[in-house]
Amino acid sequence: MDFLPVFLNVRNQRCLVVGGGSVAFRKISLLLEAGAAVHVVAPSLAEPVAVLLQQNKITHDANGFDPDHLKGCTLVIAATSDSIANRTIYESAAATNIPVNVVDSPELCTFIMPAIVDRSPLMIAISSGGHAPVLARIVRSKLETLIPHAYARLASYAAKFRPLVKEHFVHKKNRRLFWEKALQGRFAEMVLAGKDSSAQDYFQQLLKDALDNTPQGEVYLVGAGPGNPDLLTFRAMRLMQQADVVVYDRLVSPDILNLVRRDAERIYAGKERNHHTLSQETINQLLVRLAQEGKRVLRLKGGDPFIFGRGGEEIETLTDHRIPFQVVPGITAASGVAAYAGIPLTHRDYAQSCIFVTGHLKHNGLDLDWSSLVRPNQTIVIYMGLLGLPVLCQQLIAHGCPANTSAAIIQQGTTQTQKVVTGSLETLPKLATDAKLTAPTLIIVGEVVRLHQRLAWFEADQE
Ligand code: SAH
Repeated sequence: MDFLPVFLNVRNQRCLVVGGGSVAFRKISLLLEAGAAVHVVAPSLAEPVAVLLQQNKITHDANGFDPDHLKGCTLVIAATSDSIANRTIYESAAATNIPVNVVDSPELCTFIMPAIVDRSPLMIAISSGGHAPVLARIVRSKLETLIPHAYARLASYAAKFRPLVKEHFVHKKNRRLFWEKALQGRFAEMVLAGKDSSAQDYFQQLLKDALDNTPQGEVYLVGAGPGNPDLLTFRAMRLMQQADVVVYDRLVSPDILNLVRRDAERIYAGKERNHHTLSQETINQLLVRLAQEGKRVLRLKGGDPFIFGRGGEEIETLTDHRIPFQVVPGITAASGVAAYAGIPLTHRDYAQSCIFVTGHLKHNGLDLDWSSLVRPNQTIVIYMGLLGLPVLCQQLIAHGCPANTSAAIIQQGTTQTQKVVTGSLETLPKLATDAKLTAPTLIIVGEVVRLHQRLAWFEADQE
């Protein structure tokens, strides 16, 4: 992080702007909106700045900049076209620890002015630390279209009702739950639709209802996809923002975990090979207990929760305890990883069916229905197969698969550390060992693997 994002209270504080042109005008206007007492130092003023002076909204000094101008200032903005003057201002301000911003010179700034989406009192600030201002502006225009202007009114209502809600709910958590419901539900919709007076009545009703019920927890069983955060669903994202506690597996990447609401409690449930941090039964009971405490529990799993994810077992326990839940599908490793490796799982010429199996070793062997695997024109996708790869290839050949059948093993597919190793059933185990792959890896067997050569499109950082 290059800069610490903060919002500064400059109400009635003396803020110095050096320069009187159009750039200075924009900064002055912003400072005035935030209630600052703006003092402008500039030999001449452009028309709009002069108007502000006439209206007594600013004070003005027509002499050149003097370090004395900094006395009692909360911050200073240099917006002159003279680079020597800008540097002098920067140096004087920095010497006395007054925050200084030289417009368009990130190296002469102790603070920077972000691009903003203003829905006051709700304010979104976007910055690229001066490295990619155009990108910051693009993000801003996206947010501008995404966030209704009426959020300003919604935020004002939130401010208005805050003391009342605080009075009603002693516990902070209940207060938060209430707000989350109100600000995402019918109340918010009414405000956004401009039905302000019905909205206020409805708000009172909501408060009353909330007091009559004890909070009911619930569980969101969410598939986080194969690792790349772009592959999350909207619904996953929304629930990740709402959870009080997240119980996550090893497969959930740090990038994805970062998207979970910041103050949600995080519980690692593990599941490394031979290193089950929490037993499945413990996890099942943990989900029940957390939901019974009234929490919204995010059970976050790699890929899809219903594909080799034991999601079914977890919600069976929830139904036994009558705990409400919802299941959010995720992109399973087979489809995510195959897509990023440029290997279509089916293809009119090569494969009309595709089968997903687990390659997890039991007593050093694989307990699979080999005859159903070795069918022609079928793609086999093997999850959890890295350790069992030699046995797997050997057995497929033994059960009739030609030894030169194409096969691939993909490490950490869809992420920046994706690595694709291709070969045949005969050569793949050695190639995989030589490539020193690290989990998770997915194995794909079948003629479709040949297409990788031509269809690979994704470039990871370290190929
Ligand atoms: N529920 C998950 C699978 C869990 S089993 C899903 O739907 O994807 C764990 C196995 O998934 C790993 O051993 C590996 O075979 C596979 N896997 C998950 N993410 C992967 C990734 N990014 N790259 C390669 N394999 C992955």
